[in-house]
Amino acid sequence: MSTKHSFQAEVAQLLHLVTHSLYSNKEIFVRELISNASDACDKLRFEGLNNAALYEDAPNLEVRVAFDKAAKTLTITDNGIGLSAQEAIDNLGTIAKSGTREFMGKLESQKQSDAKEQGALIGQFGVGFYSGFIVADKITVESRRAGLAASEGVRWVSTGTGDFEVDAIERPARGTSVTLHLREDALDYASAWKLKGIINKYADHISLPILIQKEEWKEGEDNKGGEMVTTDVWETVNQASALWTRPKKDVSDEQYTEFYKAVSRDFEPPLAWSHNRVEGSTEYTQLLFIPSKAPHDLWNREKRGGVKLYVKRVFIMDDAEALLPVYMRFVKGVVDSADLPLNVSRELLQESRDVKAIREGNTRRVLSMLEDLAKSEDQAQKDKFASFYAEFGGVLKEGLGEDFANRERLAKLLRFSTTSSDAVSVSFADYKARMKEGQEAIYYITAETLAAAKSSPQLEVFKKKGIEVLLMTDRVDEWALGFMNEFDGTPLQSVAKGAVDLGTLQDEAEKKAAEEAAETFKPLLAKLKEALKDKAEDVRVTSRLVDSPACLVVQDGGMSNQLARMLKQAGQSAPDTKPVLEVNTEHALVKKLEGSVHFHDLAHILFDQALLAEGGMPADPAAYVKRVNALLA
Ligand code: ADP
Ligand code: MG
Repeated sequence: MSTKHSFQAEVAQLLHLVTHSLYSNKEIFVRELISNASDACDKLRFEGLNNAALYEDAPNLEVRVAFDKAAKTLTITDNGIGLSAQEAIDNLGTIAKSGTREFMGKLESQKQSDAKEQGALIGQFGVGFYSGFIVADKITVESRRAGLAASEGVRWVSTGTGDFEVDAIERPARGTSVTLHLREDALDYASAWKLKGIINKYADHISLPILIQKEEWKEGEDNKGGEMVTTDVWETVNQASALWTRPKKDVSDEQYTEFYKAVSRDFEPPLAWSHNRVEGSTEYTQLLFIPSKAPHDLWNREKRGGVKLYVKRVFIMDDAEALLPVYMRFVKGVVDSADLPLNVSRELLQESRDVKAIREGNTRRVLSMLEDLAKSEDQAQKDKFASFYAEFGGVLKEGLGEDFANRERLAKLLRFSTTSSDAVSVSFADYKARMKEGQEAIYYITAETLAAAKSSPQLEVFKKKGIEVLLMTDRVDEWALGFMNEFDGTPLQSVAKGAVDLGTLQDEAEKKAAEEAAETFKPLLAKLKEALKDKAEDVRVTSRLVDSPACLVVQDGGMSNQLARMLKQAGQSAPDTKPVLEVNTEHALVKKLEGSVHFHDLAHILFDQALLAEGGMPADPAAYVKRVNALLA
């Protein structure tokens, strides 16, 4: 009957890492196995909604933790959904999760580093069931799926090396027991006292009872020695009520933190949370957390949000993306609705009016959590906001394009570096408050890096005049800022788009000089335009440059060169619009152009250098090099 199976290559690799790297944070296996037991009970309850017969025989769902010191085993038993033989082979022999390979790579590279880091990684990816091998050199799983006959039980055994064995067994009880054959250095886990401590720490919020065998002190013969012995009495060691159903005042910060770690699979404590019962036309409980650290796949917009949906305390689904907008996909937590039907599907969620109300309520709640941190006078809270922003500021900006209703609130939360502050700490309001007298716009520039932004030729005149410019270096900036024409009545103006209009910041003499230059250099501009007709839309005189001979700008309303480059790199189509070349007629190079015999080459060098200066690449780099070399020689 017995069949042998090989682990999927990734699992074998993972197991190797688990047993060789995770020894420093052993106890997490308790959390993982109890969470699997609890998931199994959730699944049974969920399937039971349409098929009550599934658990009529044993309706009280629970987890039992037993241990046997003599046999050196620890067994975690649940009466949840169970596994069929095929499910045991599939689910305990492969890793379905995509981030795992990445996880293993990271763990490998951190072998030398400290336990905390490794723990953080495990938290982020969760090694789940396989964490049992941290403390066990052999694991036996016995299970029977709800609804199958007693004769259709399965035994799965593995020593955590290349393969596992599967047998058919007789198993009257529905559900799963996982028996860990403890390693010599992990025998101390066969202790009620120790296990209780760990369960309280990691699993107190689990909504089903976790029972553990009571131990008793037994005196030795003739009052010599003595030892703890297990009894047949079971005691419930957790509160067994879903944490979010308890009143706020009865839940400690530690409990919230552990609950967060369990729902988010994060090792770090959360940055902030908010727990509320919302009443009114739609009734629900929300418990939302903002993580401290961004996950590795934060930028994957396909990724589902991290909020679990319960309906009247029955678990319905993980990652119910309809409960938050995409740009808040970093938020974790639980929503428990009193109004939705138990058989609600993902499709139905998209259409439900209650869900819409919940999503709006959640969105507003997250915004107000962030606002509270941002405007707090308390330095610790302020630091939290800065740290939130460093991790998630980029995704928040997506909201400008996605969530019109909250655009103003979002805009107030944004922070930037500027020409006078490297720290990403300046809000639009801060900027406005220190605008120069006569300044009519909020100026900004987008670039790929802070260094590139700071050395943009387009900034020269602003620097000279001491006008602050916001430096935007997030990939989403260009796109997101496209949705904001103004902030609090002041228009936003990219310094790399359109003609510079410094308005009243330019005095009459300067304006006049610019007009005159445009007139004087008309013939030169025409010649340049002709020479560069394949590259530049137009050539004009500018007053935005001080030290550089030329720069590129895009027409007002056009897509910046930087964004166009990014889109092309990402394999997307971007309009092939040509930039405008602006020249600084004060510059020696430009003055020299006029009568030069090398006019044609110089014109192209001027253009290509302007492109290089903003981080672009000449269309024909070899031709550029040839031209420069010809002049150098
Ligand atoms: P995850 O829980 O994130 O899915 P795990 O590695 O913890 O990953 O578990 C892998 C799979 O094994 C689960 O998805 C489930 O299908 C199955 N499994 C593990 N423990 C149990 C259990 N106690 N009862 C039923 N199925 C289980
Ligand atoms: Mg799990």
